[in-house]
Amino acid sequence: MDLGIAGKRALVTAASKGLGRGCAEALAAAGVDLVLNARGAEALTATADDLARRHGVKVTAIAADITTEAGRARVLDAAGPVDILVTNAGGPPPGLWSDWDREDFIRAIDANMLTPIALMKATLPGMIGKGWGRVVNITSQSVKSPIAQLGLSNAARAGLTGYVGGTARQVAPHGVTINNLLPGIHATDRADALDQGVVKAQSISLDEARAQRAATIPARRYGTAEEFGATCAFLCSTHAGFIIGQNILLDGGAFNATL
Ligand code: NAP
Repeated sequence: MDLGIAGKRALVTAASKGLGRGCAEALAAAGVDLVLNARGAEALTATADDLARRHGVKVTAIAADITTEAGRARVLDAAGPVDILVTNAGGPPPGLWSDWDREDFIRAIDANMLTPIALMKATLPGMIGKGWGRVVNITSQSVKSPIAQLGLSNAARAGLTGYVGGTARQVAPHGVTINNLLPGIHATDRADALDQGVVKAQSISLDEARAQRAATIPARRYGTAEEFGATCAFLCSTHAGFIIGQNILLDGGAFNATL
C-alpha cells in the first residue's frame, strides 16, 4: 500500500533502537525524510546511516536527552517544521508503590508526559498552518491495564493520555491527527531489562523468563519493532486521517476485554 507520505519530514525521538527505531524505519521505507534523536551518539549515527543508505531518504541525527529542556531545544532547532512527530523516551524504572518519592514522580512525569506535550506544543502550530499533520505518541499498555511494578509509568502516561484526548479533538479540524500507540511486550532492550528483573527474582535463565512471559500472551510471543513500526507508519499515512485521539493497543491480545 502506498502510504502517500513520500517526501514528508518526520521527527522521531528516542529512535536509535527498539520501538522508536521501528517507527523510523517504517517511515523511511515510505519515503519520509527523518530527524532522529537518542542520547548515545554511536548507536544513533549507526541507525541514521543505515536507514539513509537502505531507504534513500535524508536522515539528520541529533544526540541529546529529549527529556531535558536544552536537549529538546537542540532537537527542535535541527528539525525545523515537521509534518510528522513520533514521540518516545525511555520508560521509568520498576519498583513498588511505596518506593517512590516526589522527585521520582517528577522525573517520570517530565519524561513520559511533559516531554511529549512540549514536543507537540512546538510542532503542532506548523502542522496546523499547513493543514496537515500526524502525531503518534508511544505510550504503554499500562495506560489501559496497570502494571504493578511500573507505577511511575502507569501514572505519567495516564496524564499524557488525558492531554491527548482533549488536544486531538482541538487540532483535528486543521487536518492534524494525534493518536497514541500502546505497546504490550515487544522484543527490545527495554523488555530484556525488565526480564532480567524476573531472572534475578526467580533465579531462572533469561530464556525461561521470556517463555514464562510469552505464555501469558494469547499470541504466545513478543511483538516486534517491525510490526509496531508498520502500525505507526499507517497512522502517519494519508489513509488514517479519520483516526483521531485513539489509543491503539499492540499487545498480542494480552489485555483481556471484549471491547
Ligand atoms: P529501548 O529498546 O530501550 O530503546 C529506547 C530508545 O530510546 C533508545 O534508542 C534510547 O537510546 C532512547 N532513549 C532512551 N531515553 C532517552 C532520552 N531520555 N532521550 C533520548 N533518547 C532516549 O526501549 P523500547 O522497548 O523501544 O521502549 C520505548 C518506549 O516504549 C519506552 O518508553 C518503554 O517504556 C515503552 N514500552 C516498551 C515496551 C516493550 O515491551 N518494549 C512495552 C511497553 C512500553 P539512548 O539510550 O542512547 O538514549
